[in-house]
Amino acid sequence: MAQGNSKRTLIIGATGFIGRFVAEASLATGRPTLVLFRSGATSTSKAKTIRALQEKGATILHGSMGDRNFIEKLLKEHEVDVVISAVGGDSILDQLTLVEAIKAVRTVKRFLPSEFGHDVDRADPVEPGLTMYNEKRKVRRAVEEAGIPYTYICCNSIAAWPYHDNTHPSDVIPPLDKFQIYGDGSVKAYFVAGTDIGKFTMKVVDDVRTLSKNVHFRPTCNFLNMNELASLWEKKIGKTLPKVTITEEDLLSAAEEMCIPRSIVASFTHDIFIRGCQINFPIEGPKDIEVSSLYPDMPFRSVDDCFDDYIVEIQQQPANGIGGGGGGGAPNSMVEVLAITA
Ligand code: NDP
Repeated sequence: MAQGNSKRTLIIGATGFIGRFVAEASLATGRPTLVLFRSGATSTSKAKTIRALQEKGATILHGSMGDRNFIEKLLKEHEVDVVISAVGGDSILDQLTLVEAIKAVRTVKRFLPSEFGHDVDRADPVEPGLTMYNEKRKVRRAVEEAGIPYTYICCNSIAAWPYHDNTHPSDVIPPLDKFQIYGDGSVKAYFVAGTDIGKFTMKVVDDVRTLSKNVHFRPTCNFLNMNELASLWEKKIGKTLPKVTITEEDLLSAAEEMCIPRSIVASFTHDIFIRGCQINFPIEGPKDIEVSSLYPDMPFRSVDDCFDDYIVEIQQQPANGIGGGGGGGAPNSMVEVLAITA
């Protein structure tokens, strides 16, 4: 619901997976929302996203984050107060130019670099995930050295089945034939709906309590391990599925294949579900804050509810119908089954 916030917000990466949730949430608050769109990106789905955001009131600006002069001019001319970057893993270091532009204009009141995952100063995945974290760490240090007011969003996992071979699992229906369980399936993680990543990000940007802080998303209602996630899904589909164990060694060899981006996801999966990178530290440092403690009255969408959405999706695709003989796994072509043996 519109709240009439007048802080002018620039979102970079709004046609991306996470960026769209953030842009939608920004528009829902009623604040002036500017969306940077690379003119070269002309895929039909991205053009559709841009049109949808425009219809909801976004101002679309054409250009690239890597063009410092253009960004400086944009920040000044549009009197941008807040900059949120949600660029993908392959563009993390391009944000260094953006940081220079924000530093030069000195008018941006808050910058959120593209984080939206784990606390990269704490988590320590194997390669190739580590390279991405090193890049995110480099951006953090540049922001801090430039004296730019910032917030780092550590929102943990997206609320979906955590496929180890898919970059955007929430686009993909949970398994219909068998579960692949990482290790013994007992390591817990926090799952957050994409809409909540957007909603809470837009709360955080104006909150003085989150200035120069790592904001951790740890919804207690969505604190689950793989076995619990599997049971929840089995209840939804009304049948029990076989479980195949994906061992630590399986995940490490998928990471070692260096098949990008799949191997990056395998290394994060290992860090989450074998090493417990989301839960092996308490939130008690002076720079850490948990989002539910800030907004105790704002509920998180439960994984249970998110799974209901997949049921609706399945019902609309009779070929993958529940009880239809096993389905064959996620119907999305993005999922490629890795040659991982149990
Ligand atoms: P995507 O790859 O889906 O989207 C990236 C967006 O950034 C695209 O819109 C792209 O535009 C835009 N972009 C890239 N470079 C530029 C540039 N130079 N100028 C303007 N726009 C640019 O990203 P994701 O949503 O996957 O990732 C965003 C962040 O979220 C990352 O930090 C990632 O690590 C994290 N993440 C977290 C997940 C979780 O489960 N917690 C899951 C997935 C991501 P264009 O169309 O022009 O390419």
